[in-house]
Amino acid sequence: MSHIFPRHTKALPPVAVAGEGCYLIDAEGRRYFDGSGGAAVSCLGHGDTDVIAAIKAQVERLAFAHTGFFTSEPAEALADKLIAHAPGDLDRVYLVSGGSEAMEAALKLARQYFLEIGEPQRRHFIARRQSYHGNTLGALATGGNEWRRAQFAPMLIDVAHVSPCYPYRGKEPGESDAAYADRLAAELEAEIERLGPETVIAFVAEPVVGATAGAVVPVPGYFRRIREICNRHGILLILDEVMCGMGRTGTLFACEQEGVTPDITAVAKGLGGGYQPIGAMLCTRAIYEAIAAGSGFFQHGHTYMGHPVAAAAGLAVLTKLTDGGLVARAAEMGARFGAALEEAFGEHPHVGEVRGRGLFRALELVADRETKAPFEPGLGLAARIKREAFARGLICYPMSGTIDGRRGDHVLLAPPFIITEEQIGEVIGKLADALEASLPH
Ligand code: PLP
Repeated sequence: MSHIFPRHTKALPPVAVAGEGCYLIDAEGRRYFDGSGGAAVSCLGHGDTDVIAAIKAQVERLAFAHTGFFTSEPAEALADKLIAHAPGDLDRVYLVSGGSEAMEAALKLARQYFLEIGEPQRRHFIARRQSYHGNTLGALATGGNEWRRAQFAPMLIDVAHVSPCYPYRGKEPGESDAAYADRLAAELEAEIERLGPETVIAFVAEPVVGATAGAVVPVPGYFRRIREICNRHGILLILDEVMCGMGRTGTLFACEQEGVTPDITAVAKGLGGGYQPIGAMLCTRAIYEAIAAGSGFFQHGHTYMGHPVAAAAGLAVLTKLTDGGLVARAAEMGARFGAALEEAFGEHPHVGEVRGRGLFRALELVADRETKAPFEPGLGLAARIKREAFARGLICYPMSGTIDGRRGDHVLLAPPFIITEEQIGEVIGKLADALEASLPH
């Protein structure tokens, strides 16, 4: 009998025993293609010998030194490398153990920044209804994912939410990208005015939306309009790149493709590539200096932050992504993957949209392509697809969600950057079979 508390108590998972490249292997010897990288984590695939060697070397030299007393060589080197590749004037790195922790740190740093510069009246965050920023209470409150929030609603801080940039369902018929971006920007500005501009701390968004709706890419110019509005009101822009960052969309930071730079950003998943739990919050020099010149102490922290072994793993992963050319490979293979998905599913009667960027792709499933009507919730489509794909040796990430009262089913795909052309064919073949077995006829 197992004493593990599993995610789903009614559907116990097999025991994973090994990982080899793009495959995971269970105790029965069954192989699964990791088509979603877990949840956009495994950017290098499994069993990377360089990362394993870096972890071994670090754990033998120094496993742990509390950040209340020490910094460490791998933490310093990882911070230097992240900043060398980071956009804008991001200048300081706060290392934590995952995405939710990185977002909590981002939210609290933003609030403390305004205290340090004498604007204590700033207390509101604005985020988007189509978003997920983590499961700890602050991050959960910021996210707009109804399903994840519902049970905890009475415990959540009051965060204002505006419409997401969701062209497939959000754009009016005939509306141009620019007009859509303007409309969304006007909505944000109206919300800022409603709250009182001098009371708003930050606007929080994922550059490319991940776990709520599947690889939703903003229209061109949307984030530039958002950045202008934040600047006009002295509001910080916090970009959550936990899922879409670290090369997943074909550039190390997804925001590079939007032509904007954040004041604070969060990365995680792909930073450790699954080899160690690690996340990072990056902030601008101005924010760091406000703390340094003020109280000199960020009122936050975790025992395992800046963990040397996790940092060594992150450094080895980041080195492969940048110097090793894997971000460029994500862009190249991502373009091929996108084209192959479009060819396989672009005309599918139940695929409303094939979307995404780099190796971050998704299908939106619909009962009717013309009306974009979603499938009935009772069908449990996402769970069916996950099960059927898994039975065929494919790990993909289907989900159902409701945004502004409109339901949607999506399948997110985020394979390792080492995926080959032949493996793209394998993913598509297995996914097509899983859809065929899951969709109603
Ligand atoms: N932010 C985004 C965009 C995410 O997708 C996730 C996880 O899926 C998180 C934050 C939370 O990260 P973690 O699960 O590592 O706490």
